[in-house]
Amino acid sequence: PFEKSKGQHILRNPALVDSIVEKAGLKPTDTVLEIGPGTGNLTKRLLQAGVKAVVAVELDPRMVLELNRRFQGDPLASRLKVIQGDVLKCDLPYFDICVANIPYQISSPLTFKLLSHRPIFRCAVIMFQREFAMRLVAQPGDSLYCRLSVNVQLLSRVSHLLKVGRNNFRPPPKVDSSVVRIEPRKPLPPVSFKEWDGLVRLCFNRKNKTLGAIFKQKRVLELLEKNYKTMQSLQLTSDAEKGEEKMSPDDVALLSSMVDDMNMESGYENDDDDEMEMDDADMVAESRACFKEKIMGILQQGDFAEKRSSKLSQVDFLYLLSLFNKAGIHFS
Ligand code: SAM
Repeated sequence: PFEKSKGQHILRNPALVDSIVEKAGLKPTDTVLEIGPGTGNLTKRLLQAGVKAVVAVELDPRMVLELNRRFQGDPLASRLKVIQGDVLKCDLPYFDICVANIPYQISSPLTFKLLSHRPIFRCAVIMFQREFAMRLVAQPGDSLYCRLSVNVQLLSRVSHLLKVGRNNFRPPPKVDSSVVRIEPRKPLPPVSFKEWDGLVRLCFNRKNKTLGAIFKQKRVLELLEKNYKTMQSLQLTSDAEKGEEKMSPDDVALLSSMVDDMNMESGYENDDDDEMEMDDADMVAESRACFKEKIMGILQQGDFAEKRSSKLSQVDFLYLLSLFNKAGIHFS
C-alpha cells in the first residue's frame, strides 16, 4: 500500500522516534509543523511531548484518512490539525519548530521554502537522505562542499544530529539517512539573496577552478558587463528622479549612452589623427578588455584570483560580493 513515488517510508523504530523528538528541544508553547506525517508515528510522539499544537501537512489522502482514524476519540487530537496538500504548493501556517521525516525528493525546495518562511521559525529537525545531509553540513575543503552548503549556511546554522540506517524504515529505502538540525540565523546577513546566489552559482559552476579562471570566461564577462550597464543606467534614472526636475526618457537614454562612452575612454588614448575611426567591433573589444581589467582588479584586491570556491568560507564569499558590489558589479 505504500507509494514509492511519494517517498513513503514509515519510521518503525520507536527509540529513534523518541530521540528525534528529544533532539528537537520542544517547549509547551510550541506550534510544531510536521511534513508528511504518514501513519502518524512521529505525530503521536510530538503530541505526547506536550506541545501547544501540531500542524501536519500530508499529500496522500489515504494517509490523511489513516491519521484521522488513528487519533479518533484520542484527547491528543484536540491539538492536532491535519492539512491535506502538497507542502511545496500550500501556504505554510505559523510554526515555531519543524520536525519531519520527509520524502527525499523534495529536500532542496522544502529547505529553501522553510528558510524563506516568515515569521522565521526557531529550529527544524529533519530526516534527509545521508548524502543530502552531508552536503548541508559540509565545510570549505570537504569533498561535498557545494552551492547548497554555502546557500543554506548563509541563512542558517546546520548540524548533523543522528545517523539513521535504512532498516529503521518500512519498507527500507535504498539509501541511508541522517537527522539534521537547521537553526535560522538571526538576524540574517544583510545581503540580497539573489545577488549572493548569482555569485555563488558562477563560482561553484567550476568549483575547483581558480576564481581568476572563472571570471576570465567570455560568457561570465559578458553577463557581468550586461548587468553592469543595466545597473548604471538604472542608477542614473533613480538619481535623476531624486532631482527637482524630472528628466525625459530621452535624456536618460542620452545619459546612459554617455556612460558607455566613458567606459571606453581608454580606447582613445593612442588616438592618432591619421587613423580611421574605430569601428563598432573594435569599440566593443576595447570595452570588453577594459571591463575584464576591472574584474581582475577586484579579484586581486581581495587576493581571490588564485583561490578556488571549494575552499572559500561564507565570510570569504560575503567579502567578495561586497567588493564587487562596491565597484558596481552585480550578479542578478
Ligand atoms: N512521517 C512518517 C514516518 O516517519 O513514519 C512518514 C514519512 S514518509 C518518509 C513521507 C510522507 O510524506 C509520506 O506519508 C508521503 O505521503 C508524504 N508526502 C510525500 N510528498 C509530499 C508533499 N509534497 N507534501 C506533503 N507530504 C508529502
